[in-house]
Amino acid sequence: MSDQQSVAQAPNIWAVAQQQFDQAAEKLDLDPGLRRVLRVPKRELTVHFPVTMDDGHVEVFTGYRVQHNLSRGPAKGGIRYHQDVSLDEVRALAMWMTWKCAVVNIPYGGGKGGVIVDPKKLSRKENEGLTRRFATEISPLIGPDRDIPAPDVNTNSQTMAWIMDTYSMHKGYTISGVVTGKPIAIGGSLGRNEATARGAVFCLQQASTVLNLPLAGARVAIEGYGNAGSIAAQLLAAEGATIVAVSDSTAGIHNPQGLDPAKVGAWKGEHGTVGGFPGTTPLTNDELLTIDCDILIPAALENQITADVARRIKAKIVAEAANGPTTPEADAILFERGVFLIPDILCNAGGVTVSYFEWVQDMQSFFWTEARINESLKEIMDRAFEAVHTMSDVHEVDMRTAAYMVAVSRVAEATTLRGLYP
Ligand code: NAD
Repeated sequence: MSDQQSVAQAPNIWAVAQQQFDQAAEKLDLDPGLRRVLRVPKRELTVHFPVTMDDGHVEVFTGYRVQHNLSRGPAKGGIRYHQDVSLDEVRALAMWMTWKCAVVNIPYGGGKGGVIVDPKKLSRKENEGLTRRFATEISPLIGPDRDIPAPDVNTNSQTMAWIMDTYSMHKGYTISGVVTGKPIAIGGSLGRNEATARGAVFCLQQASTVLNLPLAGARVAIEGYGNAGSIAAQLLAAEGATIVAVSDSTAGIHNPQGLDPAKVGAWKGEHGTVGGFPGTTPLTNDELLTIDCDILIPAALENQITADVARRIKAKIVAEAANGPTTPEADAILFERGVFLIPDILCNAGGVTVSYFEWVQDMQSFFWTEARINESLKEIMDRAFEAVHTMSDVHEVDMRTAAYMVAVSRVAEATTLRGLYP
């Protein structure tokens, strides 16, 4: 989008992640030694690896896998393919995964991976080659008991299938639990594809009760129309909400009477963009973020809600389906303005929660029904929302600081109980 803030100009998200942690550590009066431990990742692997392209020439790509903290269990976190991936971004995302797993109280630490590549420029064969070689390069770190990747921006169930197959080929037998977000046919979980959006909707149901703002009839704007954004649109429309505006990396569209999310998805599938969907007017990204609506869902990339945007947001609730969409300055402004924020580490934790269910099912070779998965997800999300909201009330802090306080105290407890080795 022409007015889209580029990630390069935006604040360094690793500095943002550390700042958010520092704030929570201060509120919790965390021991200084423990602060030093939790403020940095445990492991960082950088790999430069060759891929033979379709025309026969060899290209070298750079990728990362970072593990932030493993006190509560193996590392868990997605793999992202994007031209703006950097080590700092992967560090921030790994740290956020530690807190996210702790907020929903599942037995994982935080990890993340990424490759610097614009996957739109790769053929399917090149994408497979890149994925298999990247999986090989990070295989010293990953494994079902050590570090379990999942999809993130521009990776999907097919990517996970290739990683699982590559890892299994090396070991000589099928190890489905090495990644989550796999296709159902090879050990994926029912409900995983919808889980991030469903978890966000469970949070929105809780928030709507707190604010007495029913979802039925609420007007919703969504930035990003990929896995998280498009499915959130469908689930919210099913709750009776009106989806007034959506965007993707190429365009934004608006119709105050409401969009049909499935039809927008079909249009995007056909045309590669939401732009031009019949009956809509075009929107810039800035206009989408500040549009007249009740609920704003950033579901694209980091650093979208800046201080300037935060001053002009009209939504009463911001539900962060994306990771890190709001800068710390914007956070303070939203809190001051009374906008109810559902922070990323809570709002989008449905994805990792059903990933956890997938991993449990793989390890037991026993698969659950979708009803059981959605019910268990709701139980976990509701409990997490309540823990965060109560923390926010008791300590009179914003919801993000509250979520960090819940998460950091759990990770700190586990780290302290285990003690320092040697
Ligand atoms: P995706 O690749 O399926 O979709 C991303 C969407 O954002 C696409 O529609 C893309 O066009 C759009 N987009 C990209 N740049 C944009 C821009 N500058 N302006 C407007 N739209 C833009 O990715 P996803 O899996 O839906 O992930 C989206 C966000 O949700 C990321 O921050 C990711 O980390 C987070 N998240 C995803 C999951 C999951 O399970 N998929 C889980 C937790 C968090």
